[in-house]
Amino acid sequence: MHDEQRFLIDCGEGTQRQIMKSGLGFKRINKVLITHGHLDHILGLGGLLSTFMRWETIEKLEVFGGSWALKRIQDLLYGVVLRGARPAMEVGFREVKAGIIFEEDDFNVTAFPVYHRGPDCFGYRFEEKTHRPFLPERAEELDIPPGSWRRELVNGQSVILPDGRQIHPDQVLGPELPGTLYVHVGDVGRTDDLIDVCRNADLLVIESTYLEDQVELAHQFSHLTARQAADLALKSGVKNLILTHISRRYRERDVLAEARVVFPNAYVARDFDDFQVKRGELHKINLLDPGQRRK
Ligand SMILES: [Zn+2]
Ligand SMILES: [Zn+2]
Repeated sequence: MHDEQRFLIDCGEGTQRQIMKSGLGFKRINKVLITHGHLDHILGLGGLLSTFMRWETIEKLEVFGGSWALKRIQDLLYGVVLRGARPAMEVGFREVKAGIIFEEDDFNVTAFPVYHRGPDCFGYRFEEKTHRPFLPERAEELDIPPGSWRRELVNGQSVILPDGRQIHPDQVLGPELPGTLYVHVGDVGRTDDLIDVCRNADLLVIESTYLEDQVELAHQFSHLTARQAADLALKSGVKNLILTHISRRYRERDVLAEARVVFPNAYVARDFDDFQVKRGELHKINLLDPGQRRK
């Protein structure tokens, strides 16, 4: 989620049920980013689409993914879910190639290739642009009236006040602050080519299907161990790490123990955990606890 934009990344079985239970609602979830076409990452789209069709909460759903993933999703939606019926809303498919896939004034999303079984696997980088904060105390000192003058200064434009003085943005804007960088990697079998793309991220979310006791299996199926994910976090200098896609055979505390030996700021994501990144710090909220639920 970035301001009013909400992105859903991958859509496993039962996703729509979990979203309903979480109270997050479907409003504005109109962009789904798919990391790759394996069934455990796309099956939930069928349920999501039929829920949308019943409730008609949104007008358009856009699904982003590599070409192989999109073909598989189209088979699923048109062959199995819709079977000739027309969807109640427009469904758009946007084929992802490496590079920027979504851009707004202060924010963009970039796709980058990752190595996993099958073609067209991608990770996503959500990057806020640097910005200069508006300093209200300066504006008061300069006696700048509220309204459009302040807005134009925030947008980097000089203004002429009613009393004839010209004010330059530098007079009311602070030094540049870095934006938040969030990197999401789905299933992946190697990490040496991901160090640059993860560099200095505030948050890296990445799979760790296995622990080191099954490092051979991890290699064979092109997945990571918790230790390998933590190594990547350390080498790329990220601030926080969230591990996902964990095999049911493992207990959360064992996953954390293995990762934290290498990278102390490691966490495990479970359903209904909601993480927020603010100025490099990670805050965890449980969505089923009404006192903590974000409005
Ligand atoms: Zn996979
Ligand atoms: Zn998977």
